[in-house]
Amino acid sequence: MSHDEERRLQRAQLPEGLRPETLAVRTALAPSQHGENSEALFLTSTFVQPNAEESARRFAASEDFTYSRTSNPTVRSLEARLAAMEGTEAAIATSTGMSAILLVCMGLLKAGDHVVCSRSVFGSTINLFAKEFGKFGVETSFVSQTDLQEWRDAIRPNTRLFFAETPTNPLTEVCDIRALADMAHAAGAMLVVDNTYATPALQQPAKMGADLVMHSATKFMDGQGRVMAGALCGSNALIKDVFGPVMRTLGMVLAPFNAWVILKGLETLNLRMRAQSESALAVAKWLEARPEVARVYCPSLPSHPQHELAMRQQSGQGGAVLSFELRADSPEAARAAAFHIIDSTRVLSIATNLGDTKSIITHPATTSHGRLSEAQRQAAGISQGLIRLSVGLEHVDDITDDLLRGLSTLKSL
Ligand SMILES: *Cc1c(COP(=O)(O)O)cnc(C)c1O
Repeated sequence: MSHDEERRLQRAQLPEGLRPETLAVRTALAPSQHGENSEALFLTSTFVQPNAEESARRFAASEDFTYSRTSNPTVRSLEARLAAMEGTEAAIATSTGMSAILLVCMGLLKAGDHVVCSRSVFGSTINLFAKEFGKFGVETSFVSQTDLQEWRDAIRPNTRLFFAETPTNPLTEVCDIRALADMAHAAGAMLVVDNTYATPALQQPAKMGADLVMHSATKFMDGQGRVMAGALCGSNALIKDVFGPVMRTLGMVLAPFNAWVILKGLETLNLRMRAQSESALAVAKWLEARPEVARVYCPSLPSHPQHELAMRQQSGQGGAVLSFELRADSPEAARAAAFHIIDSTRVLSIATNLGDTKSIITHPATTSHGRLSEAQRQAAGISQGLIRLSVGLEHVDDITDDLLRGLSTLKSL
């Protein structure tokens, strides 16, 4: 092997003990023979084999590269980096966050199985378990995000899976990952944690006992609102032996281009999460002091009900998503006030996404939670006066100035 070749292969064999920030920048497959510094984008659906014998071996072993539904070098670099960041043996990338949850269900559940899931998880997650998998005879009990006794009471002999998301959208409720993992394991079940909001930059659920960590990489991992992507991180026994074969059959693989975008996003994830989290806390404190605001939901505020747990579990950071509730006499007045604040902004984006460098303002009651009945919304704590803010990288004062345009011109309070 030439010196050049040796050096090239070495780039994929990093020394032991590197810190998370380094792993997020450096973990990838070895570069190609050209020695590119930025990971290459392999836009190819298939791979030419050297001969029939070797082709047969690769197909039988499901290793090396044969066809991009099975694996692709750009996607594999992303998977290696994600696993390194979450501290798991392996990861598998998927086309969206929802397809990552679909993969969990297809890989681990069968008719007659039972799931316990927090009632505060992402809306489509609830539909996937309750509606789509309900059709196939999988039953799901929805329980409180924060009351461990409700989780314990929901366990049945056929419970296979606990599914949790923390912190949640939009009320930023935090659940105790370690306690849920212990409870699931004692019941012979697995714990899956949707880590979309905190990301591995702040929280590594596998280190707290979660069996699988799920991501919508569409959000903070991309970080600039460009592509859809998802992932599952866990042991080799789960990722390679259970989910790999299911994925090859189902085919909701991540496109190489999207994998490449996320791979580059991960290089700045640690910096972005810390900066956006700190800005979110500054905005939250500013909102808490405003007379028009009844309540602010942000895990890094001492007034948050699970503040201490959140700080312990999330590296001392609250995350970049917060929400706040306006004071109002009636739901109609609350909605009018919320719409006025949203419509008065000139910098923030009115959209239903989060995790972008551009701050995004959302009215959950008429968007993400718009299809619930008023009673369901109230049970979920989503009032008409609630506004969600995903804090980006603009100057904090420009974000608060933009909110002030509406807050300072509210008519009836
Ligand atoms: C967006 C989101 C999902 C779904 O991810 P997609 O990439 O949109 O499919 C799942 N969970 C959480 C917490 C999310 O925010």
